Amino acid sequence: MTNKYIYFIANWKMFGNLKSLNLLNKVINFSTKNNNNKIKLIYCPPNTLICPLSKKLQKTSIKVGAQNCHESENFGAFTGNVNSQMLKDVGAQYIILGHSENRRSGETDKQINLKIKSAIKADLKVIFCIGETLKERKNKKTHKILSNQIRTGLDGVKKKISIILAYEPVWAIGTGLIPKIDDLEKSILFIKDRCKNRSLKVVYGGSVNSKNIDMLKKIKTIDGFLIGGASQDSKKFIDIIKKTFN
Ligand code: PGA
Repeated sequence: MTNKYIYFIANWKMFGNLKSLNLLNKVINFSTKNNNNKIKLIYCPPNTLICPLSKKLQKTSIKVGAQNCHESENFGAFTGNVNSQMLKDVGAQYIILGHSENRRSGETDKQINLKIKSAIKADLKVIFCIGETLKERKNKKTHKILSNQIRTGLDGVKKKISIILAYEPVWAIGTGLIPKIDDLEKSILFIKDRCKNRSLKVVYGGSVNSKNIDMLKKIKTIDGFLIGGASQDSKKFIDIIKKTFN
């Protein structure tokens, strides 16, 4: 990999409690010892852990992110929801938006666009997820889907705003499957070309682990990885990072 920084973004999904934060001690030690300015580590725990985690990581270079928010930038009568400024208030610096697990529950491109704009307004850095389903891939619609998701998702977002775009094929998430390296390379290039006037980093997500990282790291245009399952085990997570640079 030839990039200046490599992002390793941990998506804990709906896993973890206060006790799980102790698991991060290994990662904190690793990050302190290996602070080579090339690695950017971002942990996205459930909302319940954002505040304690951001306190725990205060003196480290590891950043904290949220996994979703309500699209309203203001407070409101939306039971069970939080908005981007509330997440910022408790210590989030990044936010994952447009994850396929939320799209599957009905989240639309238009809603994702509102969430992205509200997050930027709240001074959160956006990790914007896009990706095709297996059916769309089989019907050779991958690029069309990615293009539509990018167009609507980033509508009205100024080009100079830095975005981390996470390419996560839906069929690769949590399945142990990853795209063929050639296909993945093409999709990353397509995304970069589609956004060539933007300040954009592209990370890959979907079943990244310490075995397939040897293959994935060969793609020179990838700026990092969004890691779900393997990020809940600190040893596995550190292995992925180490192998990326070996
Ligand atoms: P996975 O999840 O690494 O478990 O496939 C990735 C994600 O959903 O962001």
